[in-house]
Amino acid sequence: MMRTPLPLLVALAMLAVALAGCLPPPAPPPEDLNPPKDNACTPYTRPPAATGASLSGQNAFGFMLRLVCDFSAKDPKPLYRIPGTAGQTKASLYLHSTLSSFGWNTTWQNFTGADYQQMDKLGAGAWANACGKEAKERLPHLPFSNVVAMRGGTSNSILLLIAHYDSKRTASQDRDPARTTDPVLGANDGASGVGVLLELARVWSTKTLPFEIRILFTDGEDGFEDCHPLAGAVAYANALTQSERSRFEGVLLLDMVGNASSPFMLHGNTETMPQKFKLAAQAEGVEPLAKATVGGSVVDDHTPFMSLGLPAMDVIPSDYYRTDYWHTTHDVPSKLSASFMGDVARTVDRFVALLPSD
Ligand SMILES: [Zn+2]
Repeated sequence: MMRTPLPLLVALAMLAVALAGCLPPPAPPPEDLNPPKDNACTPYTRPPAATGASLSGQNAFGFMLRLVCDFSAKDPKPLYRIPGTAGQTKASLYLHSTLSSFGWNTTWQNFTGADYQQMDKLGAGAWANACGKEAKERLPHLPFSNVVAMRGGTSNSILLLIAHYDSKRTASQDRDPARTTDPVLGANDGASGVGVLLELARVWSTKTLPFEIRILFTDGEDGFEDCHPLAGAVAYANALTQSERSRFEGVLLLDMVGNASSPFMLHGNTETMPQKFKLAAQAEGVEPLAKATVGGSVVDDHTPFMSLGLPAMDVIPSDYYRTDYWHTTHDVPSKLSASFMGDVARTVDRFVALLPSD
């Protein structure tokens, strides 16, 4: 047996790290889901390719629809994006190929539940300890895949835009006790923010940006049994180097932005971001966002970044936990508004123009 020389080992290790970002996520183990009998994708056909130089709510809705419905067969089928299922892999491949097609530098960040359990500093260990027996056994083996896209700008600062793409394994909040073990389609909670950010990525691909913009589509925000949430955000925040952190202009998270049926709140740790976001919404005539309350309380994908002391803000309905869709089988595309998704996209676009510090 020959000893591998050290420089070769280093080179191999570097190659492995480099490849980790270029490879699709590993194939997940098969899992039996208990899908509801009614198919929320039946009313839809494959959305046309997004076109046009300006932001369109219809395009944002179409991107959302392609994430939650599988149009590869003749009849569209619900695409549940649950860690450890084939839907998760299909979804992350769709996001990766779409962002790449817009010319963004796109990579995967793959990790397991066991990696997540090690990320104690950002709260993951404490959450994972709350898992029940079944979840505790499964967690270490669960695969997670963040999709990250980058595009440079005129300054070296980084603006990180986040939306989660996973959907919840069980509709724990469903009003009908018989449906609480059904999977959640997550059109609003798990796809609306993605639709908006994909439309922005498309339109920005031909524009000069004021910062380096990173789009992070997180996996595992909702957790397998509510006991290991924010997996993707924790993993991404944990991997940031000190020099990257020092370049952060801000973190903007969009969660459940698919309709304006309830009031919004802007939750975070800065005064500037909510102020400029509301100004942007006002200028775009988007009342539900211009009137958003600042403050409140929510643990979401922006939390791990706030733990690092980075400026971060979450745009989320203030009473999401009282809606009929949150973690229920009613979180379906027909509840979403293409026109409001366009409003959100235009507000974020203007916010990005207003954000550079004076
Ligand atoms: Zn959720």
